[in-house]
Amino acid sequence: MLKFISFGSGSSGNCYLLYTDDDALLIDAGVGVRLLKKHFHDYGLRLDMVRNILVTHDHADHVKSVGSISGDYHIPVYATRKVHNGIERNYCVRRKIDGEMLRVISVDEPFSVGKFRVTAFEVPHDSSDNVGYLIEYGEVTFCLMTDVGHLTPQMFDIIGQANYLVIEANHDPEMLRQGPYPQYLKDRIAGPRGHLNNSECAHALAEHATERLRHVWLCHLSEENNHPELARLTVEQVLRDYGLVAGKDFLVDVLKRKTPSGFFELK
Ligand SMILES: [Zn+2]
Ligand SMILES: [Zn+2]
Repeated sequence: MLKFISFGSGSSGNCYLLYTDDDALLIDAGVGVRLLKKHFHDYGLRLDMVRNILVTHDHADHVKSVGSISGDYHIPVYATRKVHNGIERNYCVRRKIDGEMLRVISVDEPFSVGKFRVTAFEVPHDSSDNVGYLIEYGEVTFCLMTDVGHLTPQMFDIIGQANYLVIEANHDPEMLRQGPYPQYLKDRIAGPRGHLNNSECAHALAEHATERLRHVWLCHLSEENNHPELARLTVEQVLRDYGLVAGKDFLVDVLKRKTPSGFFELK
Protein backbone atom coordinates (compact mmCIF):
# COMPACT_ATOMS: atom_id res chain seq x y z
CA MET A 1 0.00 0.00 0.00
CA LEU A 2 1.31 3.41 -1.04
CA LYS A 3 1.06 6.19 1.55
CA PHE A 4 1.61 9.94 1.51
CA ILE A 5 2.55 12.37 4.29
CA SER A 6 3.30 16.09 4.18
CA PHE A 7 5.76 17.14 6.90
CA GLY A 8 5.53 20.85 6.09
CA SER A 9 4.27 23.00 3.24
CA GLY A 10 5.03 26.68 2.66
CA SER A 11 7.80 29.21 3.05
CA SER A 12 8.89 27.75 6.41
CA GLY A 13 9.81 24.45 4.82
CA ASN A 14 8.51 21.85 2.40
CA CYS A 15 8.90 18.10 2.68
CA TYR A 16 6.70 15.29 1.38
CA LEU A 17 6.98 11.51 1.64
CA LEU A 18 5.64 8.70 -0.52
CA TYR A 19 6.28 5.30 1.00
CA THR A 20 5.44 1.62 1.06
CA ASP A 21 6.54 -1.23 3.35
CA ASP A 22 9.92 -1.44 1.64
CA ASP A 23 10.56 1.81 -0.23
CA ALA A 24 10.31 5.54 0.44
CA LEU A 25 10.74 8.62 -1.70
CA LEU A 26 11.22 12.06 -0.17
CA ILE A 27 10.18 15.09 -2.23
CA ASP A 28 12.03 18.26 -1.17
CA ALA A 29 13.99 18.65 2.04
CA GLY A 30 13.19 22.06 3.49
CA VAL A 31 12.40 20.86 7.03
CA GLY A 32 15.30 20.66 9.53
CA VAL A 33 16.81 17.20 10.01
CA ARG A 34 16.19 17.02 13.74
CA LEU A 35 12.53 17.99 13.39
CA LEU A 36 12.09 15.64 10.45
CA LYS A 37 13.57 12.78 12.47
CA LYS A 38 11.06 13.49 15.21
CA HIS A 39 8.16 13.58 12.73
CA PHE A 40 9.26 10.26 11.23
CA HIS A 41 9.52 8.76 14.71
CA ASP A 42 6.02 10.01 15.59
CA TYR A 43 4.67 8.02 12.61
CA GLY A 44 6.68 4.90 13.48
CA LEU A 45 8.99 5.61 10.54
CA ARG A 46 12.75 6.09 10.27
CA LEU A 47 14.67 8.49 8.04
CA ASP A 48 16.96 5.66 6.96
CA MET A 49 14.03 4.07 5.14
CA VAL A 50 14.24 6.88 2.54
CA ARG A 51 15.86 5.45 -0.60
CA ASN A 52 15.80 8.52 -2.86
CA ILE A 53 15.18 12.27 -2.71
CA LEU A 54 13.53 14.31 -5.47
CA VAL A 55 14.04 18.08 -5.45
CA THR A 56 11.71 20.55 -7.17
CA HIS A 57 13.92 23.67 -7.01
CA ASP A 58 16.74 25.37 -5.16
CA HIS A 59 14.90 27.84 -2.90
CA ALA A 60 15.88 27.35 0.75
CA ASP A 61 12.40 26.32 1.87
CA HIS A 62 12.78 23.24 -0.37
CA VAL A 63 16.44 22.31 0.01
CA LYS A 64 17.96 23.58 3.23
CA SER A 65 18.42 20.07 4.71
CA VAL A 66 19.03 18.15 1.50
CA GLY A 67 22.81 17.88 1.94
CA SER A 68 22.51 16.75 5.57
CA ILE A 69 19.84 14.12 4.94
CA SER A 70 21.57 12.82 1.83
CA GLY A 71 24.97 12.80 3.58
CA ASP A 72 23.83 11.24 6.86
CA TYR A 73 21.88 8.43 5.19
CA HIS A 74 23.68 8.10 1.83
CA ILE A 75 20.60 8.95 -0.20
CA PRO A 76 20.85 9.93 -3.89
CA VAL A 77 19.35 13.34 -4.77
CA TYR A 78 17.56 13.83 -8.09
CA ALA A 79 17.26 17.32 -9.60
CA THR A 80 17.93 19.11 -12.87
CA ARG A 81 21.49 20.30 -13.50
CA LYS A 82 20.43 23.95 -12.97
CA VAL A 83 18.86 23.09 -9.61
CA HIS A 84 21.96 21.14 -8.52
CA ASN A 85 24.10 24.15 -9.47
CA GLY A 86 21.71 26.43 -7.58
CA ILE A 87 21.96 24.26 -4.44
CA GLU A 88 25.76 24.42 -4.71
CA ARG A 89 25.57 28.25 -4.73
CA ASN A 90 22.83 28.57 -2.09
CA TYR A 91 24.39 29.73 1.18
CA CYS A 92 21.31 28.50 3.10
CA VAL A 93 22.39 24.95 2.21
CA ARG A 94 25.36 24.70 4.54
CA ARG A 95 26.15 21.06 3.97
CA LYS A 96 26.36 20.34 0.26
CA ILE A 97 25.39 17.13 -1.49
CA ASP A 98 28.33 14.68 -1.89
CA GLY A 99 29.32 14.27 -5.54
CA GLU A 100 28.52 10.56 -5.52
CA MET A 101 24.94 11.25 -4.41
CA LEU A 102 24.16 13.68 -7.26
CA ARG A 103 21.69 12.45 -9.85
CA VAL A 104 20.98 14.78 -12.76
CA ILE A 105 17.56 14.54 -14.40
CA SER A 106 15.96 16.19 -17.42
CA VAL A 107 12.35 17.26 -17.80
CA ASP A 108 10.06 14.94 -19.75
CA GLU A 109 12.52 12.02 -19.51
CA PRO A 110 10.99 9.32 -17.28
CA PHE A 111 13.27 7.43 -14.89
CA SER A 112 12.82 4.75 -12.24
CA VAL A 113 13.69 4.92 -8.55
CA GLY A 114 12.86 1.64 -6.86
CA LYS A 115 9.33 0.76 -7.91
CA PHE A 116 8.47 4.40 -8.60
CA ARG A 117 8.37 5.63 -12.19
CA VAL A 118 9.08 9.37 -12.16
CA THR A 119 8.69 12.07 -14.79
CA ALA A 120 9.74 15.66 -14.06
CA PHE A 121 7.93 18.45 -15.87
CA GLU A 122 8.68 22.15 -16.15
CA VAL A 123 7.04 24.56 -13.67
CA PRO A 124 7.62 28.32 -14.18
CA HIS A 125 9.13 29.99 -11.08
CA ASP A 126 11.89 32.46 -10.25
CA SER A 127 14.40 29.86 -9.03
CA SER A 128 17.36 28.51 -11.06
CA ASP A 129 14.87 26.02 -12.47
CA ASN A 130 11.73 24.33 -11.13
CA VAL A 131 10.01 21.06 -11.84
CA GLY A 132 6.90 19.23 -10.78
CA TYR A 133 6.77 15.45 -10.55
CA LEU A 134 4.43 12.87 -11.99
CA ILE A 135 5.04 9.66 -10.05
CA GLU A 136 3.56 6.32 -11.01
CA TYR A 137 3.45 3.42 -8.59
CA GLY A 138 1.51 0.39 -9.81
CA GLU A 139 -1.84 1.73 -10.95
CA VAL A 140 -1.56 4.97 -8.97
CA THR A 141 -0.53 8.32 -10.49
CA PHE A 142 0.54 10.94 -7.95
CA CYS A 143 1.42 14.46 -9.16
CA LEU A 144 2.97 17.37 -7.32
CA MET A 145 3.29 20.96 -8.55
CA THR A 146 4.45 23.66 -6.16
CA ASP A 147 5.82 27.21 -6.46
CA VAL A 148 3.85 27.66 -9.67
CA GLY A 149 4.31 31.07 -11.34
CA HIS A 150 1.66 30.14 -13.86
CA LEU A 151 0.13 26.97 -15.23
CA THR A 152 1.16 25.66 -18.64
CA PRO A 153 -0.81 23.48 -21.09
CA GLN A 154 1.40 20.55 -20.07
CA MET A 155 0.51 21.10 -16.41
CA PHE A 156 -3.20 21.15 -17.29
CA ASP A 157 -2.68 17.82 -19.01
CA ILE A 158 -0.93 16.42 -15.93
CA ILE A 159 -3.78 17.57 -13.67
CA GLY A 160 -5.99 15.48 -15.96
CA GLN A 161 -3.82 12.39 -15.45
CA ALA A 162 -3.59 12.56 -11.66
CA ASN A 163 -5.31 10.20 -9.25
CA TYR A 164 -3.73 12.17 -6.41
CA LEU A 165 -2.58 15.77 -6.75
CA VAL A 166 -0.63 18.21 -4.61
CA ILE A 167 -1.06 21.71 -6.08
CA GLU A 168 -0.19 25.18 -4.86
CA ALA A 169 -2.85 27.58 -3.54
CA ASN A 170 -0.44 30.22 -2.28
CA HIS A 171 -2.45 33.37 -1.76
CA ASP A 172 -5.70 35.21 -2.06
CA PRO A 173 -5.10 38.05 -4.56
CA GLU A 174 -7.06 40.57 -2.48
CA MET A 175 -5.25 39.68 0.76
CA LEU A 176 -1.93 39.98 -1.06
CA ARG A 177 -2.89 43.38 -2.49
CA GLN A 178 -3.98 44.76 0.88
CA GLY A 179 -1.34 42.94 2.91
CA PRO A 180 1.88 44.15 4.55
CA TYR A 181 4.40 43.11 1.89
CA PRO A 182 6.39 45.77 -0.01
CA GLN A 183 5.19 46.37 -3.56
CA TYR A 184 8.15 44.66 -5.27
CA LEU A 185 7.44 41.49 -3.31
CA LYS A 186 3.72 41.64 -4.09
CA ASP A 187 4.61 41.97 -7.78
CA ARG A 188 7.03 39.05 -7.54
CA ILE A 189 4.49 36.76 -5.85
CA ALA A 190 1.63 37.64 -8.21
CA GLY A 191 3.87 37.60 -11.31
CA PRO A 192 4.20 34.79 -13.89
CA ARG A 193 7.29 33.38 -12.11
CA GLY A 194 5.95 33.75 -8.56
CA HIS A 195 3.19 31.73 -6.92
CA LEU A 196 -0.25 30.37 -7.84
CA ASN A 197 -3.25 32.05 -6.19
CA ASN A 198 -6.37 30.32 -4.84
CA SER A 199 -8.54 31.24 -7.80
CA GLU A 200 -6.01 30.09 -10.44
CA CYS A 201 -5.67 26.81 -8.57
CA ALA A 202 -9.44 26.40 -8.28
CA HIS A 203 -10.06 27.05 -11.98
CA ALA A 204 -7.30 24.67 -13.01
CA LEU A 205 -8.95 21.92 -10.93
CA ALA A 206 -12.45 22.71 -12.14
CA GLU A 207 -11.44 22.77 -15.80
CA HIS A 208 -8.83 20.02 -15.99
CA ALA A 209 -9.46 17.42 -13.28
CA THR A 210 -10.94 14.19 -14.63
CA GLU A 211 -12.89 11.36 -13.01
CA ARG A 212 -9.47 9.81 -12.30
CA LEU A 213 -8.87 12.38 -9.58
CA ARG A 214 -9.54 11.09 -6.05
CA HIS A 215 -7.82 13.51 -3.71
CA VAL A 216 -6.31 17.01 -3.96
CA TRP A 217 -4.07 18.62 -1.36
CA LEU A 218 -3.66 22.40 -1.53
CA CYS A 219 -0.05 23.23 -0.70
CA HIS A 220 2.37 26.10 0.00
CA LEU A 221 -0.23 28.45 1.54
CA SER A 222 1.08 31.88 2.50
CA GLU A 223 0.91 32.75 6.19
CA GLU A 224 0.33 36.47 5.52
CA ASN A 225 -1.78 36.35 2.38
CA ASN A 226 -4.06 33.36 2.79
CA HIS A 227 -6.17 31.37 5.24
CA PRO A 228 -6.65 27.60 5.01
CA GLU A 229 -10.43 28.03 5.11
CA LEU A 230 -10.39 30.75 2.45
CA ALA A 231 -8.32 28.57 0.11
CA ARG A 232 -10.67 25.64 0.65
CA LEU A 233 -13.80 27.78 0.20
CA THR A 234 -12.49 29.37 -2.99
CA VAL A 235 -11.78 25.95 -4.48
CA GLU A 236 -15.12 24.51 -3.34
CA GLN A 237 -17.02 27.49 -4.74
CA VAL A 238 -15.37 27.39 -8.17
CA LEU A 239 -15.84 23.62 -8.34
CA ARG A 240 -19.54 24.12 -7.59
CA ASP A 241 -19.79 26.60 -10.47
CA TYR A 242 -18.59 23.75 -12.69
CA GLY A 243 -21.03 21.23 -11.19
CA LEU A 244 -18.37 19.50 -9.09
CA VAL A 245 -18.67 18.74 -5.40
CA ALA A 246 -15.57 18.70 -3.19
CA GLY A 247 -15.75 15.65 -0.93
CA LYS A 248 -17.88 13.79 -3.47
CA ASP A 249 -16.23 14.04 -6.89
CA PHE A 250 -12.86 14.15 -5.17
CA LEU A 251 -11.54 15.01 -1.72
CA VAL A 252 -9.96 18.42 -1.06
CA ASP A 253 -7.58 18.96 1.85
CA VAL A 254 -5.33 21.84 2.84
CA LEU A 255 -1.77 21.02 3.91
CA LYS A 256 -0.60 22.74 7.07
CA ARG A 257 2.46 24.94 6.96
CA LYS A 258 4.35 23.48 9.89
CA THR A 259 2.40 20.46 11.09
CA PRO A 260 2.50 16.97 9.54
CA SER A 261 -0.65 16.05 7.66
CA GLY A 262 -1.21 12.56 8.97
CA PHE A 263 -0.82 9.78 6.44
CA PHE A 264 -3.09 9.10 3.51
CA GLU A 265 -3.45 5.74 1.79
CA LEU A 266 -3.29 6.01 -1.99
CA LYS A 267 -5.24 3.13 -3.54
ZN1 LIG B 1 8.65 27.48 -1.81
ZN1 LIG C 1 10.26 28.77 -4.56
